[in-house]
Amino acid sequence: MDGYKGKSCRFCRKDGIVVMNEKKVPFTETQIREIIKQYPTPFHIYDEKAIIDNVRKLINAFSWAYDFKEYFAIKATPNPYIMRLLQNEGVGADCSSLPELILCEKVGIGGRDIVFSSNDTPYEEYQKALEMGALINLDDISLIDYLEENGPLPEWMCVRYNPGPLLQGGNDIIGVPEEAKYGMTREQIFEALTILQTKGVKHFGLHTMVVSNELNAGGLIHTAKMMFELAAEVHHTLGIDIEFLDFGGGIGLPYRPEENFVDYAELSAGIRRYFEEIMEPVGLHRTRISFECGRAITGPYGYLVTTAIHHKHIWKEYIGVDASMANLMRPGMYGSYHHLTVMGKEEAPLDHVYDVTGSLCENCDKFAIDRKLPKIEDGDILAIHDTGAHGHSMGFNYNGKLRSAELLLHEDGTVTQIRRAETVDDLFATIDFSAL
Ligand SMILES: *Cc1c(COP(=O)(O)O)cnc(C)c1O
Repeated sequence: MDGYKGKSCRFCRKDGIVVMNEKKVPFTETQIREIIKQYPTPFHIYDEKAIIDNVRKLINAFSWAYDFKEYFAIKATPNPYIMRLLQNEGVGADCSSLPELILCEKVGIGGRDIVFSSNDTPYEEYQKALEMGALINLDDISLIDYLEENGPLPEWMCVRYNPGPLLQGGNDIIGVPEEAKYGMTREQIFEALTILQTKGVKHFGLHTMVVSNELNAGGLIHTAKMMFELAAEVHHTLGIDIEFLDFGGGIGLPYRPEENFVDYAELSAGIRRYFEEIMEPVGLHRTRISFECGRAITGPYGYLVTTAIHHKHIWKEYIGVDASMANLMRPGMYGSYHHLTVMGKEEAPLDHVYDVTGSLCENCDKFAIDRKLPKIEDGDILAIHDTGAHGHSMGFNYNGKLRSAELLLHEDGTVTQIRRAETVDDLFATIDFSAL
């Protein structure tokens, strides 16, 4: 299952697996064992320099644009220390809940450095976003009345587009937007903009998100083209100059070694071509273009580090580790592949086949199924790759499991704990045992 017998052998390893990205870990076994002495497993550890280098690369790729902005999707890694790193690089925040807005406030991210891309939103959350001067991205036309009933409309407003069956020429991964709950139809976009204009809104944006975990630059470029065309048509029919375009998140992560990273240069060149072709002729050359990526920003640079604690041989061979699906939900929930490195055995032959499991009373609590790995002994340290986004943040407490610590690995090899592990007291903090 995990191997991919490719035709090209430029990236072939001896065992015939095509390797397009190297799946290396940024620490040695000795280093990680030192860290574990202070911070017991399991924990997520994030590679600071790699995160910064990557986001710089993304931003530099769009240096041609009059105004380019990445708004980090906070839900991917809602940790203020990670947010601060990104803030220092000029990155804003994409929020969709009150606690995410509060995190921004703590970090000092405010105003239109925040886009509030929420849906089904209670007014108190809008109120906070408005107080902070965030750019509100309206998910539905009915929300214009809802906002007005509760208070004044802001001067800036963005509307979220759902192209539904009108989306054509994309690729398989785009799926079917008409099944997605987000955004407004094309007609509603024009109607909403007209209403907002008559109500005194002065600055307008358009948003969409129609791809997720997309590794094909073409699919992402297509989204941009669709939005440029929409902006040009809005300009033509309503005389509104869209000042802000947001293509959502969705830049993919090559979870499997045989997959490849999205080439930012290729992505940028494709978007540039359509920007020059569609936006510039109608005078929209100063429109901000933006993404709200989470996964691509931090995902590849986080690792869930866990210790093998049990062996079990029944109908299959199992390795039990001290992390569980409560620390990383993606494999159990989506059947997602996450690469595994057994520390110190990076070069050892992959001559064993294991299921690597956590301790939840759920059979889907497996980090790997039928995975070819080196022989694993109890006490071996495993690094589960690509947990820097939608990893710790999707954690939960089912079966009384505790969420782990988060560590930041600095370039000099030192570590800062940026969130401690939960304790049993944290778990029971909402129960008043004295009233029992
Ligand atoms: C989840 C989400 C994102 C981030 O998606 P990634 O896959 O992490 O890039 C961005 N915008 C919105 C509105 C989202 O719901």
